[in-house]
Amino acid sequence: MRKQSFGKSTDGVEVELYKLTNENGMEAAISNYGGTIVSLLVPDRRGGFADVVLGHDSLDRYLNDAAYLGPILGRYANRVAKGRFTLNGVAYSLVRNNGENHLHGGLKGFDKVVWNARGISTDKGEALELTYLSKDLEEGYPGNMSVLVVYTLTEENELRIEYTATSDKDTIINLTNHTYFNLAGHSSGNILQHELMINADRFTPTDSSSIPTGELHSVKGTPFDFTRPTAIGLRVNQDYEQLAYGHGYDHNFVLNRGVGDSPSLAARVHEPKSGRTLEVWTTEPGMQLYCGNFLDGSIRGKGEKSYHKNQGFCLETQHFPDSPNQPGFPSTVLRAGAQFRSMTVFRFLTQ
Ligand code: BGC
Repeated sequence: MRKQSFGKSTDGVEVELYKLTNENGMEAAISNYGGTIVSLLVPDRRGGFADVVLGHDSLDRYLNDAAYLGPILGRYANRVAKGRFTLNGVAYSLVRNNGENHLHGGLKGFDKVVWNARGISTDKGEALELTYLSKDLEEGYPGNMSVLVVYTLTEENELRIEYTATSDKDTIINLTNHTYFNLAGHSSGNILQHELMINADRFTPTDSSSIPTGELHSVKGTPFDFTRPTAIGLRVNQDYEQLAYGHGYDHNFVLNRGVGDSPSLAARVHEPKSGRTLEVWTTEPGMQLYCGNFLDGSIRGKGEKSYHKNQGFCLETQHFPDSPNQPGFPSTVLRAGAQFRSMTVFRFLTQ
């Protein structure tokens, strides 16, 4: 594994970029700033490599990034309605950074902190171990929480992400990674021709501020039916209230398997021209499909390329949005002293 300087954070802390490689020529560059996946070189069906994730060339750009290009999200990825929740009879209020709601851990979430990092080599491949201690009441969350995230690039062309966390007080948790993929290459235009399969018969419809109503709605007969591979763009402009609320797809899918101990297949995405295919495997019960609806060309990404609407898609494996306020959703409570574990695998192949 190679390690190089990536600059200094706003607080003057040295930040590094770590490059994990495998025998097949894949390379994942990950920074300990936000645990961000900065680039990911993946072969196409002819063996040509492209960088399939959106990102920036320099740390400075990440410091001001508001689109969450590639980082770890926490303590609560996605939204908590009005930033409020009650636990053990105590009301907590979180930073409101998305209209009235709390989004992706707050103003300085896990995406905007410098993690301790250590490169290790495992029997599965090169790995990067990231740790962070989130102090009691950071961004409003109870408990001192220690978090460990391990990224491993395997010889099977997988990027595995393993999350572990413990807290000294009862608290809530929902961790994910917010990488925008474009399997034709990060600067190759929109992802509307990518064919997507999601292993979900239901999704969680929302109100106009993207807070789930609590209902688990069947995807049958709706533009949310990705049970068979379908081009992302085929129905995205249909007149359908949920698409209007999300400005396209920005919704959580209820994965058919539910919470599991070992990862199961959540989604498969195929890009016809390059032949690249991404499979997402996870132990989590949900997955947010977000298609870069709010990218408006104002972000200059790698190589000074502007990122426009729908230029990347995120498959954010997670618990459902606003679970702390939805008794019917799988629980996101982490009890004091218990261990939170989850795992997501991004597996690349060609077809
Ligand atoms: C959310 C979007 C939000 C985006 C920020 C996604 O996970 O669902 O609503 O705008 O993150 O980049």
